[in-house]
Amino acid sequence: MMLPFQAFAGLVPQKPDALLALIAQYRADPRADKIDVGVGVYRTETGETPVMRAVKDAEAALLNEQTSKSYLGAEGDQRFAQLIWQLVSGSETLGERCFGLQTPGGTGALRVGAELLVRARPDARVWIGEPTWPNHAPIFRGAGLEVRTHPYFDPDTAGIDFDAMLAALAQAAAGDVLLLHGCCHNPTGTQFSREQWRMLSDLCSQRGLIPFIDLAYQGLGDGMEEDAQGARHMLATVPDAMLAYSCDKNFAVYRDRVGALFIRSRTEPSLQLARTNALTIARSLWSMPPDHGAAVVRMILDNPALRADWEEELADMRRRLQTVRQGLASAHPLLAPVATQRGLFSRLPIDADAIAAVRRTHGIYMPADGRINIAGLNQANLSRLVDGVLPHLPGSRGSSVSSPSRSQELSA
Ligand code: PMP
Repeated sequence: MMLPFQAFAGLVPQKPDALLALIAQYRADPRADKIDVGVGVYRTETGETPVMRAVKDAEAALLNEQTSKSYLGAEGDQRFAQLIWQLVSGSETLGERCFGLQTPGGTGALRVGAELLVRARPDARVWIGEPTWPNHAPIFRGAGLEVRTHPYFDPDTAGIDFDAMLAALAQAAAGDVLLLHGCCHNPTGTQFSREQWRMLSDLCSQRGLIPFIDLAYQGLGDGMEEDAQGARHMLATVPDAMLAYSCDKNFAVYRDRVGALFIRSRTEPSLQLARTNALTIARSLWSMPPDHGAAVVRMILDNPALRADWEEELADMRRRLQTVRQGLASAHPLLAPVATQRGLFSRLPIDADAIAAVRRTHGIYMPADGRINIAGLNQANLSRLVDGVLPHLPGSRGSSVSSPSRSQELSA
């Protein structure tokens, strides 16, 4: 018998993912010299996203050594969490009043953290800078938290508008959450200075804000140690804090979904509350995290030879990103900030019409906000990207962007 109603007919239609649509368009483009600077994965000089050498070696060893795939529990691989904490904090053990939970990627860590916040502080608002990774707000809203935005990026300087950020955060209330990118901001490539991290730590301590650090690109900025400095200062000085970690970029294990959530709390009883609640949340979301990628990362970090090889390959990736950044920055004064930015992404100062135009004329594929994946560029295609983009920069002839301050800058 037919049901008297249609089960899914009442759903609200959803827009297709813009980035996935861009990938489909790119694939369908027959031009041999097309350029993909859209998708957010590392690429080599020849355009590949290979499995890292140490990952391949650890996977081979895992295949031989693993004797059981029996359940590990909602916490996942605890040695893995301990080793990641070592990378984040620089300390050997998980330390006092800190708990780590293996999660499916950084996304999983953000979501368990968000669900935990809903339970702990249902009225808390999460403050998120604009722009940010487009999945941040849906993750927190999806968990049931109110999202507030604060200014972050100043297009005129291509840097952080720290004063505007602090001014907006004056409205944050005690118990609110402040989401911060640990390094290599997605999509702008900007990073807080040490002094700004100190000021943000003071702000959180004095105003009772809970920092939630999203560290998804450690090692792709200035180095493993350097990229953790801000998070370290925050975790050492603010009594209640959270950190979502992703290994998906720095170990290039994207689809294996490797991440961890760390929670620091001011007292042991409150840490135990956070721990047991986080575990029941994880249990209801995915029961237990996928093991393979985290086991591989654990084996690399626990083995000096594999670890040294991973660090070396990561350093090569970092150096390549820097070389591309220098090349792009030297092409035009308005692109100069690209050299000071870090990680996979920067934002080009061109508008949506210009972005559509360079797609048509030059086969250059980037999302409508002008974010480019620096790793999509190499010696062979960099000058083509520059040729496509330069006429559209503010102040250039043919530019459709009117930015008075930039035009003044150029004519000065
Ligand atoms: N945070 C930021 C800022 C990101 O850019 C990403 C991935 N693009 C993530 C978190 C999530 O990473 P994962 O793929 O490990 O879920």
